[in-house]
Formats: sequence, structure tokens, C-alpha cells
Amino acid sequence: MELLIEYAGRYGLNQQIVDDISRSFGQLYRDEAHPSALTRVLFDADNLDKLGSLGIANYFVKSGLKGNGISPDSLYRLTAELTYARHAPACMATPAGYELASRKAPETYQFILNLLKSLRDDGIFNFSVEAVTFDHLILDVVSPSECECRADLQRRLWKVKGVKCLEIHVEHFCPHCESRHEIRFCTPKLRARRPEGDVAV
Ligand SMILES: [Zn+2]
Repeated sequence: MELLIEYAGRYGLNQQIVDDISRSFGQLYRDEAHPSALTRVLFDADNLDKLGSLGIANYFVKSGLKGNGISPDSLYRLTAELTYARHAPACMATPAGYELASRKAPETYQFILNLLKSLRDDGIFNFSVEAVTFDHLILDVVSPSECECRADLQRRLWKVKGVKCLEIHVEHFCPHCESRHEIRFCTPKLRARRPEGDVAV
């Protein structure tokens, strides 16, 4: 919000619009029960950003900026991207968001499946996807077929109340060499019903 106000001042944006957007950011992060139309638009925009070919490209750009290439670490994390893609349409807050997510999510999904297949075929990383039901939600867990030491991996899932959301933690560990890998991501918030009507902002 501070950045928004700073930039808005610098570029002379309409104060009313700046105030409306500020309020919506607040609603978004406080997870308000009755968000305004603008808040719902921002929510969908924030989530649509991660979907489709551009969403995947940005995922790897971010991963690269953090110093990670295609590594076991980035492959384990695809669990979150796949799970979000699977549930994206059901999480959208506006009809337009629903339509866009329904179109873009399969692109994300198919890209990741193709990437994992290509890495397996080329003998680089043997990771695959398994649909796992946890707390009434289907997760697409990406993990290697076995530990680097060739022993079987064990999996553990649990939830933790984080600062911003209810986090799902997925851990893979090897009882033989004791290597361990954990990821965490926000639980997708599925809506009871599909969003209807026009959104007037
Ligand atoms: Zn091991």
C-alpha cells in the first residue's frame, strides 16, 4: 500500500482510485468474508498471473533469479503449481476469472506433465505426479520414484496455520540415508459455487 501511494503520487493518479485500490489490497490480505468487486478482480488477477504459458515462464524466471535451475528442488515445488492449476477455476471470484482460468489451467498442467516426461525420457530426473487426497482436497504431488541412494521414499503431509494462509506441508524423507525434502504452499480456497453475473467495479 505504501508503494502504491508513493507511485500514485509520483504519476499523479486519481486519489479516489488509489484509495479504492488500497482498501482492496487490505481486504485481500485480511481475507474478508464479503470482498468488494474490485477486491475480487484483484484476487483473480493475482492468481491468473501464475497460470498458462506465461505463468510457467515466470515461475522459471523467478526460480532462476533465486539461483535455481531445473533442479530436484524446483521439481518438488511443481506440486504447488500443479495443485493450483487443478483447482484454479474453482477458486476464481469472478465469472471472467473463471473463464480465463478454465482456459489457461490446462496449459499449465500439460506443460508440467510434458516437462517431467521429457526429463524422465532423457534420464535427467525421474520425477512423476501422483494425485493424493489430503483433507478432502486432491493434491498433485511431484516426487522422485526413489531416493538418490535407491531406497524408497516416505511421504508425510500436514497443515500449519501460516501468517497469510493455511499452509500444506509435504515432506519426503528417506529412512535409509535420512535425506529429507519439504515444501509448503497455501491451501487453495475453493468456492462453494461458480461465480455468476457481471462484476461492476
Ligand atoms: Zn536415501
